[in-house]
Amino acid sequence: MEVVLTAEHYDVVVIGGGPGGYAAALYGASAGLRIAMVEKGRLGGTCLNVGCIPAKELLETAATYRHVKEAGDYGILADSPKIDWPTSLGRKDMIVNGLVLGLGSLLKSRKVTLLDGHGRLHADKKVTVSGGASGDVEVIGDAVVLAPGSVPRTLPGFDVDGSIVMTSDELLSIAELPGSAAIIGGGVIGCEFASLLSDLGTQVTVLEALPNILPGLDEDLTKVVKKSFKGRGIDIRTGVMVEGHTPGASGTSIQVGGEALAVDVVVVSVGRRPNTGDLGLDGTAVTISDRGFIEVDAGCRTGEPGVWAVGDAIATPALAHVGFREGMLAIQDILEEKPAPIDYAKVPWAVYCRPEVAFAGLSEEAAKEAGYDVVTQRSRFNHNGRAMIVNEPEGMVKVIAEKTADGRAGRILGVHMAGPWVTEQLGQGYLAVNWEATVDDMASLIQPHPTMTEVLGEAMISLTGRPLHG
Ligand code: FAD
Repeated sequence: MEVVLTAEHYDVVVIGGGPGGYAAALYGASAGLRIAMVEKGRLGGTCLNVGCIPAKELLETAATYRHVKEAGDYGILADSPKIDWPTSLGRKDMIVNGLVLGLGSLLKSRKVTLLDGHGRLHADKKVTVSGGASGDVEVIGDAVVLAPGSVPRTLPGFDVDGSIVMTSDELLSIAELPGSAAIIGGGVIGCEFASLLSDLGTQVTVLEALPNILPGLDEDLTKVVKKSFKGRGIDIRTGVMVEGHTPGASGTSIQVGGEALAVDVVVVSVGRRPNTGDLGLDGTAVTISDRGFIEVDAGCRTGEPGVWAVGDAIATPALAHVGFREGMLAIQDILEEKPAPIDYAKVPWAVYCRPEVAFAGLSEEAAKEAGYDVVTQRSRFNHNGRAMIVNEPEGMVKVIAEKTADGRAGRILGVHMAGPWVTEQLGQGYLAVNWEATVDDMASLIQPHPTMTEVLGEAMISLTGRPLHG
């Protein structure tokens, strides 16, 4: 990271250079504000270095391996593919490093001052920086944005050693692919890793304490993912508690529900905790909740006037794109532009396991719980031409609409998808939910043919009561 000697006074000082922090820095700089950003590690935070980008890159490696294996279906006779894992890791690192460098250049081109070190906030919006290449410096912001992000949670009895027991941080750079792996936690990240490792040939067991994997997801979509996982030999054990593990000569034996499970590696994927333990905060009115989150109002304002907090460190959905928006919102508020608060119930979610999952708005279960009378439609990819062409016909689009007084499908409450490329297809569903479109609004729109978005179009048309293709 390039170090620029500090000037003392800034319009905004940002602590943390992940998506929340760097979005605030870039957006603020675009508005002409003088910005300093403090980062103690690598620019880009979790997302660029040990999160979204490396995970999706390795998932694409798994998809490429699978496509080559399936090439015979298309009459392409490729020899049995083999994985050259060091090359795969090298490609992942090349993309990560390229993005980190690109971000540094962008920040520099916007004249953001980068301070390398640990930032701590004190009274009067003074930020001290220490322990990094910038040495001991002090800066003062008219406004301060706290964006320290999150780190993986661990489990008692499962000390992370990086070779047998690991979190997402270590798994994303694992030196060789394990023969078998237990993934503790069947949430979004756990399911992405289960899918990734299984597609690369590892025997995977998912251990989840809750009754289902992907908790909170519409149950019809969970069924799609579970069916696919099980069909590929992923062992999903739900409602189980892991009690500990006993390492052996190679691998370890996990005690789970009174049984022993022998695996080469354990991936602890039980969520992340806010990284708020060492932020200073003496002499400020910034408060931290029992769960470690920085407490904010609907506008990301902390209890200290002139101090905002964004991203994984506040109790909002832990997603990079939510952090981006919160960083922008903080800047808009600093500029007194009165931005509308984020409607967190309607943010887009994307899970990159196979099949992919993407949704915005209420699931059927959540809509009913919220008291809505709903009409739902499930339209499947298995009749869609493009999905058949790309050899990925599993999955569905499910639309949840509010029932009108005359029993028709009205306002769209949720759009939920599991299937091929759905993370790229959610956009229309996201807009429909956030613009409070009705089924009639959406059904009259034309979907290009042949595309997979025709399945969303079919769902909307079917909800009008007159299906086209079915
Ligand atoms: P972070 O990205 O954690 O960045 C915080 C930064 O602040 C870090 O660089 C840290 O070094 C720095 N910092 C902390 N304290 C200080 C301090 N006191 N002084 C100086 N610097 C400090 N989200 C998605 O939207 N899509 C995905 O596909 C996705 N995939 C993921 C896959 C994995 C494996 C993981 C782990 C996460 C994934 N996420 C994904 C979540 C996403 O990475 C986070 O939501 C996002 O990075 C949060 O951004 P942030 O800026 O709040 O924090």
